[in-house]
Order: sequence, then C-alpha cells, then structure tokens
Amino acid sequence: MTTTSTSTSENSAGKSLVARPRDAAAVILIRHDSDPGDPVLFWARRSARMAFLGGFHAFPGGQRDESDAAVMIQGCDDSERATMIACAVRELFEELGVLIARSVDTLTKGQRASLLDDIESGRMTFAEMLEHYGLQIDADDFTFVGRWVTPPFSPRRFDTWFFLAGCPARQVPEIRTPEFDEGGWITATEAFEKWKRSDMLGAPPVIHAVKTLSHGLTSDLVDRFLAIPQAHLEPVRRIEFRPGFICFPVRTPTKPPATHTNCYLVGNDEIVIIDPASPYEDEQAELAKCVDELIAEGRVIREIILTHLHPDHIGGVNNLVAHLDGRVPVAAHRLTAEALKGTIKVDRFIEDGDRIELAGEPSITLEAMHTPGHARGHLCFYNQGTGALITGDNIVGLGSVLIDPPEGKMRDYLNSLQRIKELPNLTVLFGAHGPAVGNPREKIAEYINHRLEREANILDAVRRQPSTPKEIVEAVYTDIDPRAFPMAERAVLAHLEKLQEDDLVKLDRDGRFTAVAGEVISTEF
Ligand SMILES: [Zn+2]
Repeated sequence: MTTTSTSTSENSAGKSLVARPRDAAAVILIRHDSDPGDPVLFWARRSARMAFLGGFHAFPGGQRDESDAAVMIQGCDDSERATMIACAVRELFEELGVLIARSVDTLTKGQRASLLDDIESGRMTFAEMLEHYGLQIDADDFTFVGRWVTPPFSPRRFDTWFFLAGCPARQVPEIRTPEFDEGGWITATEAFEKWKRSDMLGAPPVIHAVKTLSHGLTSDLVDRFLAIPQAHLEPVRRIEFRPGFICFPVRTPTKPPATHTNCYLVGNDEIVIIDPASPYEDEQAELAKCVDELIAEGRVIREIILTHLHPDHIGGVNNLVAHLDGRVPVAAHRLTAEALKGTIKVDRFIEDGDRIELAGEPSITLEAMHTPGHARGHLCFYNQGTGALITGDNIVGLGSVLIDPPEGKMRDYLNSLQRIKELPNLTVLFGAHGPAVGNPREKIAEYINHRLEREANILDAVRRQPSTPKEIVEAVYTDIDPRAFPMAERAVLAHLEKLQEDDLVKLDRDGRFTAVAGEVISTEF
C-alpha cells in the first residue's frame, strides 16, 4: 500500500475527492480438460450499454454482498478471505450458472437452476441455500491470485480479489446477466494475442491474468500472478488498455467528479506524450519516472502534444520539458499556441489532417483532427488501424463536457462530435478523464442526443416565456445539483448562442431571451 504525501497542501489537493474502493471478487474459470501448457479460460464482454467499462472483456465477479460473510467456507481460517471466496462463488453462480461446491455433482442441471431461482427470488440467501442442500464450499478449490484496486481516476472503484478455479466437468457456463453481451472459452494464448492485436479491451488485471496464464499452469503460476506490486493493491499507474497506448492518469485541479487527467504516452519506439497535465510536484515526478523508464527501455520521446489550452491539461508541460533538458519540442494547434503565449512555448503547430508517424514495432500513425467546440484549438488524435481515438475533453469517460462561451461553441462542438461519429473505424475512445470508452458508437450517440435534448428543452422554455439563462437553468436542469447551476448557466448560454445563430431566439434589451417564431403571429388584440 502506498501512503499519501502531505508535505505541502498543494500536493494533497484533490486527494480527498477520490472515490473509495468497494470490496469485490472475480473468478478466472479454467476448463477442466484444458491443456496445462495453454489453459482455456472463460471471459465475457461487458455490454455496450454499461456505463462503466462497457465493451471491455472481463471475468465473472462483482461486489461483496452483506450475506457473503454468513457463508461457511471449509479450510479457511481467515474470515476476510472466506467472505471474498463466498462472494466469488455466489457471483459466478449468479452470472454464469456455475456452482463450485463439494458434492454439487449430485445435483442435476434442473436442480441447479431451481437453486438459482431460490436465490434470485429472495426465498433464500446464498448461505441458506448451501446449507439447505448440504453443499460445502472448500477454500482449496479457489487459488488466490491477487488483489487489485481500480486506479483513482475512476468514478467506481473496486478492491477486487481474483481467484483461479476449475470449472466442474459437468457444468457449462452460460451468460445469465445483462452485464455481459457475449462470452465464452478461449485459450490464454489466444486471449493475450487478441490484446496484442488490439482486438479487445481489458482492464490491467485481466491483461495480466491472460498473459500469466499464457505461459501455462506451471508450478510457479501463483508466484507469477503475484510477482507485481499491482497484484497487492498498489494502484496501477501505467495503464495499457491497448498496446502502444499508455494511459497515465495524473491528479489535477479539474472539474468534479473527475479528479485526474489522463496523460497518454503513445507509440512503441518513438513516443509522443499527450497532455502532461498535473501542476502538482508529486504527480509530475511520477510521470517523469514513467518517461525515464520508457527512455531506459530504449524508446525515444519525440514530442509533447497538447489537446487544448485548459489548465488541467497543461499544468505539467514546462516541468516535463525541463526534465527532458529542453530537447523535446511542444506541439499544439495554432489557436492553443496563441492562447498560451507567455505561459508555454509551443514549437510546432498541428493542423487538421496532419499525420504523426511514430516508428516502432508496430509503427503507429496518429491523424490530427481539429475538433473545436470545447476549446477553439482542440485536437483529437485518430489511429485508424486500431480504431483508437484520443478525444481530449471532447468526449470523456467520466463527468460531462462543459461548453463555456466564448472559448466553447455549441455548434462547433456538435459538428466535431458528428465528425468523430463518422470515422470509419472506431473501437475505443481514450478521453482525458476517467476510464477508456469501449463502446464508442453508443457513447457518441448519447452525447449528441443529450445536447439536442437540452437544446429542445431550452427552446421550449424560452417559447413559454422570455427568460434569462439563470431562469432557464432552473426550469430545464432539474436533474443536477444546484451547486452546478453556475456551470449549467454557461452551457445554456452556449445553447442560446447556437439558437440565436439559427434565428430561433433573440436577446431582448432586458437580458432575456425570446423565441423568434413565437412573436411573429398574434391573432388576438
Ligand atoms: Zn478542457
């Protein structure tokens, strides 16, 4: 476990806002007839509809239930571990219908289904069900292979216990939860190859598990699982959802609920560093350490790139430039460079359509997209080969995107979203805040629909009566915390600007917005 530094008040800023991890357990299920040299495991893809890690491959599992502590586990003196084994067994049973318990083979498939029904209908707790049918869970059937904590950049965080378990020969896992949209058996080697080919997305413990298992069920298997500090609750700093795309979240003074900004280090041999964001010394040092490690591995840092001008994206630029002895140039859009004049020296301008070719095995080409809306000089970076898009603040994995005039412009923003939506191959969005988005099409549609819905509601409010932005917020933003009203007012203003350009509203002399169409016809005198 790491301890938090409290050396200066600045360095501790924002730490208290980070979500606390909740207890969870997951099961890496191994097929009984696996080749020990390349075991067959069960994994499933989280549904694209899931807000958290939708589209990611994962193992069955979930949060600890109050009742898990009541389950008797044989051969385990440690009550905490026993509870987490119970959690793992229950989740596996609920999600895949596989029940790992001694003497379970005396039950038919139909009987197991009725047990599931007993639990799901609430007739019995899991503990009661086991006792009623004389089933015992034995700790020996579950090999502990690590405890991972979700990095602090995520809105939902888990302290997850991972267990390896053999699937009973007579049971066939079937997906029984809407959490997953597909799943099945796969050899560990093929699963790891899929990640290497950018054919799947997985959280770090999943990638670690398939990689570890791809070396076979050797006698040192558990040691290999536990050989890294991240398997012992040390937070993962360097997250490689996709090979060649390292996400390195750094704590920043950003907009809640986000507490971190994702810095991306892209490339295999040649690397660009996108948004070294943190103004905090401790976080700058962590990023510098990661960069030094990459250099020590023989990689070359080619450029530091800025997606846009906001302080929670550029706070660590000058520090990193200095750390690299001023040898690495800074690149940004011309409009960003102009706005940052005197603060950050931008050495090269990036324009829409520019290609950044990063040598390596494999090489990675990033295509710059000028995507104004959130900020005038906002850039996204697209890698068509793998369908990855670095979205900056245009689309984020956590929280919402503020369009704040005059830097923000709603029409430009919607056009930028539309352009992104039309990209030919899009498999993952790497946003500046929160986890990667593995269901890009759904996410973009949600963003566009949300804005259009707001716009319709705002127009509706103005048509009912001329209003100030403040009055509109109170009428339309009934779903948000009143503390966010001042920010919502900026967003309303952005919508009103667009509606003005569309000749649907106009601004009265008293500061109220009025519907244009509404005042044209009046049949009453
Ligand atoms: Zn921003």
